[in-house]
Amino acid sequence: MAKYEEERTEDVSSLLNPWIRELVPYSSARSEFSGKADVLLDANESWVGGNDGVNRYPDPLCRELRKALEEKLGLPYEMTAIGNGSDEIIDMLIRMFCAPGKDSVMIERPTYGTYSVFARTSCVDVVDVPLTPSLDLDEEAVMRAIAEKKPRIVFICTPNNPTGRVYPLDAVERIAAANPGITAVDEAYGDFAENFHSAVNLIAANPRVVVLRTLSKAFAAAGARIGVLVADPVIQRTFMKAKPPYNVPLLSQKAGLAAVNDYENVKRRVEETRRRRKDFASFLSSLPFVREVFPSEANFVLFRTGDAAALYTCLLEKGIVVRNRSSDPMLENTLRVTIGSEEEMEKLREALCGWRE
Ligand code: PMP
Repeated sequence: MAKYEEERTEDVSSLLNPWIRELVPYSSARSEFSGKADVLLDANESWVGGNDGVNRYPDPLCRELRKALEEKLGLPYEMTAIGNGSDEIIDMLIRMFCAPGKDSVMIERPTYGTYSVFARTSCVDVVDVPLTPSLDLDEEAVMRAIAEKKPRIVFICTPNNPTGRVYPLDAVERIAAANPGITAVDEAYGDFAENFHSAVNLIAANPRVVVLRTLSKAFAAAGARIGVLVADPVIQRTFMKAKPPYNVPLLSQKAGLAAVNDYENVKRRVEETRRRRKDFASFLSSLPFVREVFPSEANFVLFRTGDAAALYTCLLEKGIVVRNRSSDPMLENTLRVTIGSEEEMEKLREALCGWRE
């Protein structure tokens, strides 16, 4: 306990860019008052009502949604902030912790593409650490890169996109402990993993860990654009200060709230997706032209074939779009397939059965 308290006193704010730490936030009309009021003449909105109430600005703090996330998912209210998709959170983290033209972030390749794109748009360097040949996290190489390159943020995507691989939480914990900067753990697909151990539980002992969640996958709300940052309250408050004031639209907050409140159904659908993922993976393994099926803990399956480009085009001609990942390092001739509805998977199975190399 003493150790815990000692570590909790770490001043994580010293990692922030100084101009972010000292930022005087924009004070939006809606964040200045709390309580109930019937006459809202503070925000230069239209008096024309109807249309789901979109004449009003949305809650800048996403309070109802965050309360629901606390109730249903156990994510403490003061540790959550909502982004316009987790993509906005990735962008914001880079802007909060990295100095343009000076700092770097670290990623393990192959992984999700926007970490490096947002780094580049902020003029921040990207340090690439390849995964091991079996597509696992190369802990030693990550440790070496941290010591040598001193990245300000280490991104770890688990389950990883596009491989579907979960990295052991103790490896993530060791990396975060060795990393003097921020370790950002992207758990976009964590809901689909069996016996998943979330890095949210690491934050209390190590406030340099931040976790990204999203309602775009298991919660079936990709169109609402709701990403969730789970972080030490110092980082959470800074995010709130630095983000665009009304970053999550009113209708999106409503849709997100409905999705979170429907958690029982979310869990049921996740079970169904896992079952379908397993069936599809064994179906793929039975096909003569499939060289390798990568074990996945996400809502997609990656597989290797003889000629991925030709198979991709064949599927496209039948109106089926999958993702060709062949240009990623170590992923020559691979396709990534999202687990769809029963009908969609049946169409795909039919198309694959008709394919000859
Ligand atoms: N992280 C990962 C690993 C993803 O694959 C994606 C989207 N495909 C995102 C984040 C972005 O999600 P969001 O819709 O919340 O922006």
